[in-house]
Amino acid sequence: MSSLTREPGPDATFLADVAGVLFDVDGVLRNASQAVPGAAEVIRTLNDRSVDYCLLTNNSTHSRASLLRELRGIGLEVDEDRLFNAATATASWVARNHPAKRCLVLVAPDAITAFEAAGVEVVGDDDAEHAEVVVMGGAGDYFRYDRLNAAFRALRNGAQFIAVHRNIAWVTDSGLTLDSGPFIAALEQATGARATVVGKPSVPFFQVAIDRIGQPPSRLLMVGDDVDADIAPARALGMKTALVRTGKPIPADPPSDDRSITIDSVASLDWSTAGQQVAAPKAIE
Ligand SMILES: [Mg+2]
Repeated sequence: MSSLTREPGPDATFLADVAGVLFDVDGVLRNASQAVPGAAEVIRTLNDRSVDYCLLTNNSTHSRASLLRELRGIGLEVDEDRLFNAATATASWVARNHPAKRCLVLVAPDAITAFEAAGVEVVGDDDAEHAEVVVMGGAGDYFRYDRLNAAFRALRNGAQFIAVHRNIAWVTDSGLTLDSGPFIAALEQATGARATVVGKPSVPFFQVAIDRIGQPPSRLLMVGDDVDADIAPARALGMKTALVRTGKPIPADPPSDDRSITIDSVASLDWSTAGQQVAAPKAIE
């Protein structure tokens, strides 16, 4: 623990009544292929304590299984049932809400496997403009003009519009990188359709992780690098929040009060103090 630097602002009591933690992944526990320094130790500390936690990520470039492999590959020892990624959640959501519909799925090829595994009928490029559902998430080389144009035509024809998230950017090995949010906004402007977001900041996505932990939101802490997707919805749900500076650029005046702090890194807090008050036999509310 000696390698962890404590943030001078929040004292140990900030974590003392925290019974569970929701971590964003990209920008918090890792950036691209590198773990954030100290993040693996944070996870190890929580694994050794009675403080429950989940990872709640808008990652839409990987299936849950391959994301889990990547995280373990950089030393983040996370159990599979603690990981909730938006691509897999969206695949399940589409399969449940739009069964047997032909879907144009504009996400990374690895994430498409999550949709196929969920039983979603994924249309090929030849039939894309006749899709009944358009799903968009992530961004990359597969966001070609012809595919966006097919999505445009499908939406004009009345297809349902589903977004894994509306993130504007994320950090890759080459730097801050344009995400799918602006493309979704463009298609909304062009067609009048409005995308339904399944990942963060959608409350049902948070609720899955909250239910997994089994504590009221007032006893939970959200750690994220995105004010809109992580911090604002967590605050609205009544959670404590910690905004980290290791990911996306953060606003000049982020939310700040006795339940919301900004810290340099996930490793800035002394996680060995987490849940101390909760674990006490006669903790006073
Ligand atoms: Mg993030």
